[in-house]
Amino acid sequence: MALIEAFKRLLGDAAVLTRDADLAGLTEDWRGRFNAPALCAVLPANTEQVAAIVRLCAESGVPMLPQGGNTSLCGGATPADEGKRPVIVALRRMRRIRSIDPINNTMEVDAGCVLAEIHEAAAAAGRLYPVSLGAEGSCQIGGTIGTNAGGTGVLRYGNTRDNVLGLEVVLPDGSIWDGLSALRKNNTGYDLKHLFIGSEGTLGIVTGAVLKLHPLPTAEAVAWLAVDGPQKALDVLGLFQASCSSRLSAFELMNDNQIRLVLEQVPGRRCPVARIDGWHVLVELSDTGDAAALAATLQTVLERALDAGLISDAIVASSEAQRKAMWLVRHSVSEANKKAGVGLTSDTAVPVSAVPAFIEQAAAAVRALVPDLPMVVVGHMGDGNIHFIPFFTFEAWSAIEDRDVLAERIRRAIDDAAAALRGTFSAEHGIGRTLTGEMARYKPPVELALMRAVKQAFDPRGLFNPGRVLPPAASYLLRHPMQPSDKGRPET
Ligand code: FAD
Repeated sequence: MALIEAFKRLLGDAAVLTRDADLAGLTEDWRGRFNAPALCAVLPANTEQVAAIVRLCAESGVPMLPQGGNTSLCGGATPADEGKRPVIVALRRMRRIRSIDPINNTMEVDAGCVLAEIHEAAAAAGRLYPVSLGAEGSCQIGGTIGTNAGGTGVLRYGNTRDNVLGLEVVLPDGSIWDGLSALRKNNTGYDLKHLFIGSEGTLGIVTGAVLKLHPLPTAEAVAWLAVDGPQKALDVLGLFQASCSSRLSAFELMNDNQIRLVLEQVPGRRCPVARIDGWHVLVELSDTGDAAALAATLQTVLERALDAGLISDAIVASSEAQRKAMWLVRHSVSEANKKAGVGLTSDTAVPVSAVPAFIEQAAAAVRALVPDLPMVVVGHMGDGNIHFIPFFTFEAWSAIEDRDVLAERIRRAIDDAAAALRGTFSAEHGIGRTLTGEMARYKPPVELALMRAVKQAFDPRGLFNPGRVLPPAASYLLRHPMQPSDKGRPET
């Protein structure tokens, strides 16, 4: 095909993948739930090559799918079954740390840098890039920008959006926007970078970024707590926030079902406290000051929590190895759940104060549909972000006749419970292809119309990651048949 030949002339044969064996890891999503063919995958080495690829695709009217580490949990990074086969633009060869400015506390990087490599480069300069998540050994900074990734450091440092100062983006017409600003103040009109952050490759391909760095903590104190329930965990969070303020860097909640899955499925993991039943919290304090002082603060708050009857047990990590072992349990949940069965994962956020009510109401709503179904709960409680996961064994799941209908009803029950508390159905994973129906259901029509107008302005031909983020016209129009502002708008 002429387009593939043109790619080969541009990039060299080795950077154009067409064989099924070479494409296998790029066309199936991380959970193994979606798999559809691509026209090919191209591996550009620099921004100019990305721009040339986009121009070639645009000339041929072929859709493009930017891909980072392919760790999306909402089917955002792999081809769809319907429509024209896309070209996957995989940025894995673009992994240069372009520069680090320790005085300005910034680093400029290629979008294909793996997140863990960014952490290492920042640490080597005595700095911290604080976005941290279980997939950090595979996901790329461009993917985390595409999804506005959250993770375990949001409580103190914010999500990706809060840690990006500038972007370089290839636009759908093949032009390059150099927005690589390293400024902390820049009030010169619309802040375009925020449109690209979280747009999941539907508006442009991020090729470079200026990241905000922070002082590298010199002291970390970590503890694993056993609590009776989410309300007690919330009270403990309040104690920590009152006593530690911004030194509180993580507050992660898990229930016993989640811990059991990790212990069963991931070799080498062990529960830090003696009793698995009940609820678990991983709490971390970090600081640039004295380690002994931080450890003493942790101890004091834990004693107060024990005295108040808020926690039933607590283990403080007494070495770096213990600290890592505790975090490994937390970071193993996605792997464990994937191996153990079918979890209908939600990515809910509610106001932090509403987390206990959400868990209770979502559980009641799901049990009204499927009595006795085990619920797995894990989340970044300090941010109000809970992954509420009604969980089926593979056998139980395959015995259900109308799985899609049941999955939809369960998702609706959970999302309605969140919406009743003014929460959201997507806190950190994005929309991808799995949540476009929720967009149609929960997003106010005015907001959806504005999003469509933005998409139309950037990508009028709808060639960038089609079918993601925005709901298809049919479901949107079913819910909002009388929206005059949408009439005549081309579907994206
Ligand atoms: P991909 O999966 O390749 O792509 C994701 C989306 O971004 C797609 O829509 C893609 O088109 C777009 N995209 C990719 N690169 C670019 C680019 N250069 N320019 C424009 N668009 C682009 N997420 C969290 O937020 N918090 C967590 O705690 C968390 N934990 C996880 C744990 C595990 C084990 C796994 C597998 C995933 C987890 N995730 C989490 C989800 C996922 O890792 C993040 O969404 C991550 O940001 C995706 O990065 P990626 O490079 O793999 O992107």
